[in-house]
Parts: sequence; structure tokens; C-alpha cells
Amino acid sequence: MIPMEKALGILTRRIRRRTKTQEVPLLSCLDRVLAESVKSDLDLPPFHRSAMDGFAVRAQDVKRAPCRLQVVETVHAGEVPKKKLHAGQACRIMTGAPLPKGADAVVMVERTELASDGASVVILEKVEPQENYCPRGEDLKKGRRILSAGAVLDPVSIGMLATVGRPVVSCYRRPKVTILSTGDELVAPGEPLGPGKIRNSNAFTLAELVRSYSGDPVVPGIVRDNRRSLAAAVRAGLRSDVLLLSGGVSMGALDLVPEILSNAGVKTHFHRVAIKPAKPILFGTTDTCLVFGLPGNPVSSLIGFLVFVAPTLANLQGKKVEPGHWPTARLGVETRTSPRLTEFRPHTLARDNRGAYRLDPVEYNGSGHLASLLSAEAMAVLPEGVSKVPRGALVSYVSLPQPRLA
Ligand code: AMP
Ligand code: MG
Repeated sequence: MIPMEKALGILTRRIRRRTKTQEVPLLSCLDRVLAESVKSDLDLPPFHRSAMDGFAVRAQDVKRAPCRLQVVETVHAGEVPKKKLHAGQACRIMTGAPLPKGADAVVMVERTELASDGASVVILEKVEPQENYCPRGEDLKKGRRILSAGAVLDPVSIGMLATVGRPVVSCYRRPKVTILSTGDELVAPGEPLGPGKIRNSNAFTLAELVRSYSGDPVVPGIVRDNRRSLAAAVRAGLRSDVLLLSGGVSMGALDLVPEILSNAGVKTHFHRVAIKPAKPILFGTTDTCLVFGLPGNPVSSLIGFLVFVAPTLANLQGKKVEPGHWPTARLGVETRTSPRLTEFRPHTLARDNRGAYRLDPVEYNGSGHLASLLSAEAMAVLPEGVSKVPRGALVSYVSLPQPRLA
């Protein structure tokens, strides 16, 4: 058994693999990692434009208000003004339309009265030069870099890619992740549950975790605890970028995963880490596949994923995430912990009355108790080497995945 820090170090050295890239259409690249640097292909705005519906004027004509100006034309968004403004003239203009030459300000329509024949307008309030006037290039200059390789694309960055004319961008490929659930006791949800059986939940949690870290999950289903079926499933699974197995890595008579992986040519880098839950976790590699044997208890396989697999998926996609770098918050109550292990326990995470984040424990009966995590937001990390952590101590926490609508 090795300490968590050591296991994270071993992992870090193995996950900086070169990743292939692919062209991805804009509407499919949310949460993908950009593999190129993107520059603006134009000034923004691309022309001097109006910020308001109103009248483009020469500010010097409107030093005193009210005053009357001759309306020489109307310019809608998408049109181009044909006339230059001279003294005493105004141009009716809509938001986003290019300003005519000679104009240096826009009076919003609410501060004007258009004559009934449309030929003249009364400006009711004076304006300053540059009011409601957006000069070309004010927001962004042509050639300026807007995004760098390694950026994770969000709705705003995707909007900017559209703004600079990119219908497709180069992104790192999503790692393909095969998820095998091992266990003779497992039954798929919806199937009849015989005596001694339980439902396979890990496949579903793991698949959605993979998806939320922009991986591409492949779920062949349940694998029984016998050498033949496990060996066949492993052989197929090793063709993906990452293979996750749940169950079968501990000390039980039918915990065949380490043996089968070794027979399939997987080199084991660690097996058993001083963490609770997920102590029996295994990490191995082939030349092309990273393999994680996650213990079967649902909270164990979740912790194994969040601590080891999540940073792996990020790094495989060109996003350099340091495993084990977590935020901190204050512990709400004194907590006993095992000095020989790093412990992960479910907590709520909320602001206290001074605005600082505080972790408070939820009822938890151990690593089989997935239901306890329904009310938790984070797993507090109780460090190795101490038997209790005092109330108010700063501890790391691993966020539990929250839906965006939360
Ligand atoms: P194992 O790691 O195979 O010894 O399994 C440890 C515990 O986790 C046992 O109680 C299993 O029944 C349970 N378990 C194993 N696989 C799953 C799974 N896919 N979904 C839910 N529970 C599981
Ligand atoms: Mg098992």
C-alpha cells in the first residue's frame, strides 16, 4: 500500500500523453478543450456603429437643445449610409447600423421628436461627442488572440468563435472510456432482482462522470466473475483510451481483475493506496490504454474516479490538471479520522455567516452508502497522519459533480 501523494505522483507521470486533435463544429464543442490558438479576423465592431435607435448627429450642431435638424436618410442595421452629414443635418439610425461620415454622436430616439413628414427632427436634449457611438475596433482589434490552446470552451467562448468567423475549431479528441462492471451479484436496473443480488449502479455513475469530463463512455455492461468472460471483456476494453473496471480488485476469492489485467499485458503501477474509501484501487497501463481498477462499492468507485480518473481525462485532452489539487474550506465540526489513511467523507458545502465556505458532515455509513451523497456537495479530505481534525481547520475537498441547473 502506498500513500495517496505517491500514487498521485505516479499517475501524473503517466497521463501527459500526446493527444490527437479533430475538427469540431461549433455547436458540438461545449466543454471541449481547444487545440489551437484563435485570433480575431476583424476589428470589433467592424465599423463605427450606433449603440442606440435614434439620430446620428454632429454634436456641435446640438450644443443647445431643443433644436431642429434636417433628416437626410434612414439607415437600418445591415445597411450602409449613402450620405455624409453636413451642418444642421441628422440621419435616422438603428442600433448596430454603421454611422454616416460626419456624425460623431447619436441621440436616442426617446430624446427626439420626429416631424410628421419625417423630413426633420427636434432634438430635445444636448449630446456630447462620442455619445452612443461605438468606434471601429473599440472591443477588439483584428489579429488579437482571443483564445489559446488548452482553453475549455464555454458558451461565451463559443460565441466569440462565431464572432470571429469560425464554424469549426480544432479540439483535442475525447478519450474513449470503456466501463466494465464486474460482479456475479449484479443485475441491470429493470431486470428482476433475485435473492442476494443488487443493482449495477456504478456503470451509470461512471458513464455520466466520464461524459461530464468530456470523455466518450462505452458501456458494454455487466461482466461475470469468471476468468473467461473477464479476459474477453478486458481484451476488448483495452482498445479504448481508458478502461475502467468496477469491482473485483480487492482480496476476495473472485477478485480476478489484477490477475486478468496482468495476463492481458497491463503493467500495474500501483495497487492499493492509503485512502478510504477506494483503498484497493489499481492503476496500470499498456502502450495505448490507461487502466483503472476501481473497487465496487459505489462511493469507492466514485472517489477512485474523482481522485484519479478525472485529472487523467483532463490531461488526455490537453488540459494540464494537477492531480490532487483541490480547493479548501473550513470544517464545521471536529472530526475523528484514521491516521493511516487519507479519508474522504461526504459534506455539505455552504457559506457561513461571514461568507466563508464551510463543510458540514452528512449522515454516512460507509462506502456502500451512495444515498448519503444525494444531500452532499463535497467530499472533505481528512489527511493521513492525524486522528482528528479540529473544528475550523482548513481542509481540502473534492467537489461532487453538480448539475448545471443546480
Ligand atoms: P467488490 O469490489 O467487487 O468486492 O465489490 C464491493 C461491493 O461493491 C460489493 O458489495 C458489491 O456488491 C458492490 N458492487 C460491486 N459492483 C457494483 C456495481 N457495479 N454497482 C453497485 N454496487 C456494486
Ligand atoms: Mg465483486
